[in-house]
Amino acid sequence: SLDKDKANSVAKIKVVVRKRPLNKKELAKTEEDIIETHANSLTVHETKLKVDLTEYVEKHNFVFDAVLNEEVSNEEVYRETVEPIVPIIFQRTKATCFAYGQTGSGKTYTMKPLPLKASGDILRLMNHTYRNQGFQLFVSFFEIYGGKLFDLLNDRKKLCMREDGKQQVCIVGLQEYRVSDVEMIKDLIERGNATRSTGTTGANEESSRSHAILQLAIKRSIDGTESKTPRVVGKLSFIDLAGSERGADTTDNDKQTRIEGAEINKSLLALKECIRALDNDQNHIPFRGSKLTEVLRDSFVGNSRTVMISCISPSSGSCEHTLNTLRYADRVK
Ligand code: ADP
Ligand code: MG
Repeated sequence: SLDKDKANSVAKIKVVVRKRPLNKKELAKTEEDIIETHANSLTVHETKLKVDLTEYVEKHNFVFDAVLNEEVSNEEVYRETVEPIVPIIFQRTKATCFAYGQTGSGKTYTMKPLPLKASGDILRLMNHTYRNQGFQLFVSFFEIYGGKLFDLLNDRKKLCMREDGKQQVCIVGLQEYRVSDVEMIKDLIERGNATRSTGTTGANEESSRSHAILQLAIKRSIDGTESKTPRVVGKLSFIDLAGSERGADTTDNDKQTRIEGAEINKSLLALKECIRALDNDQNHIPFRGSKLTEVLRDSFVGNSRTVMISCISPSSGSCEHTLNTLRYADRVK
């Protein structure tokens, strides 16, 4: 059928890189832009020292599905990543969009507008193409911090996860809001983001240690009316991952920081393994490796789509972190 063709035309896994512009701090330190971009490849120019302390440049080349340079707008990022997926969410597909990268690389900047644009498109499809077919849109927003779940739309209430008999993930007590217009979604996203960044200490510091998960669920009553309890048809998840460099905090002096670092490291490794298993059509998906992958379990089985947006800084000062991010993305693609 036409719907099936539409679904098959969207790649199962898409890996894109987004390079942000040099910021004021980097410019003030006269750090250089070391990332040369092309349509779907990039070159990192790493400056190294010889034994006699003279400098030389080592080039690292990478190829991805797309490379979005510093001139690419959020609108274009949406078109390249999430827009193609939206129609197939109505065809029993679960899809996940990840933002990966070191703290300050542009994950939140990239991620924030995506669910808003996607829900605008979803509501348009519901109101026009799928008129009177009983589809409903729901939003939830939570974070994983130190391996625990907190509801970002309900005062950071602590949540538990369990699996029902049908391999569906159920987060007990998670608030879901039914939304019927973009304004409502906008308010909810802003509320969730505010709840996230006002954690206990400084804003960016806190959010860099948690994974924020925003989910758009399309549900439908069995008989197409609104009276019956609706069932999930498809789901689109947006995940603003913890700063990738935090996974290296495993030797920090502070015990809590070490524990969190180990948890982040574990979850990013497990995520990589799950996406790779998905790509190889492996029967066994190692989702039990971490809370993050357990929560996403139902998005890793069956008909699913994954988009990974790897965010990088262009600056020479971030070279090592950038190479780590690109190598991770390279393993996933
Ligand atoms: P992260 O969430 O990865 O820690 P942020 O999204 O908070 O990083 O970005 C860090 C800073 O860089 C923010 O001030 C943000 O506005 C800015 N920034 C990130 N990406 C871009 C971009 N593509 N264009 C302009 N500014 C950006
Ligand atoms: Mg952030």
